[in-house]
Amino acid sequence: MRKIIIAGNWKMYKTSFEAVELVNELKRTLGDMSEVDVVVCPPFTALVEVKDVISESNIGLGAQNIYWEEFGAFTGEVSAPMLTAIGVQYVIIGHSERRQFFGETDATVNKKIKAALKHALIPIVCVGEVLAEREAGKTFAVIEKQLEGSLAGFTAEEIENVVLAYEPVWAIGTGKTATPVQAQEVHKFIRDWLTKKFDAAIANKVRIQYGGSVKPENTAELIGQPDIDGALVGGASLKSETFSQIVKNCLALK
Ligand code: PEP
Repeated sequence: MRKIIIAGNWKMYKTSFEAVELVNELKRTLGDMSEVDVVVCPPFTALVEVKDVISESNIGLGAQNIYWEEFGAFTGEVSAPMLTAIGVQYVIIGHSERRQFFGETDATVNKKIKAALKHALIPIVCVGEVLAEREAGKTFAVIEKQLEGSLAGFTAEEIENVVLAYEPVWAIGTGKTATPVQAQEVHKFIRDWLTKKFDAAIANKVRIQYGGSVKPENTAELIGQPDIDGALVGGASLKSETFSQIVKNCLALK
């Protein structure tokens, strides 16, 4: 049985003061939650303060990016050991906004996953097609290429520690959500790919989140699908009421 994982991607929102306000509210509503893994991913500047608030709770802490080297002359970058040193447990890798605006490729995503796993950070690895690719009937081909490139060279034991996130790019921040049927068929495709590459036991263990305009109203129908194991939530994670409600709506599922 895969445990549901709900992660909030705060993107470039919230000063450290605002982040502490939000996470204090989340601690009140979700701090004791053990049925669902709850993770918040604030900007780098708020990680330490957020960690201080959630350290005595069940809420996990994630970053939104890492660089693959451990240290060196890489101005502006942050490494895996720097994150683990302050108690970060998860890291989002290959988000479509990083692919679109910061030139990330499957090859750089692959190096970042390697660095994360080496330092026992759980990578949340994002894949997803843009609208033109979906309309051209290329969704599965695009997802397969991203999986092949991003996950190249990992062992089964390593893959078990990866969380995947299927995020159709046309559904991110647009208010358009994939239908449960559209989302489930891609999640099933990803799980079948894992079976082919590794084996059924590994494929059954890996958690695959859906991301793209998830909100309280559509949580149950999406996460109720057999191969959808949680959500990566952007906009709706910025308010404690909506994020908490998404998590609570998962309690009756699976
Ligand atoms: C995201 O940022 O990963 C995301 C899914 O955003 P939103 O929920 O706002 O679509």
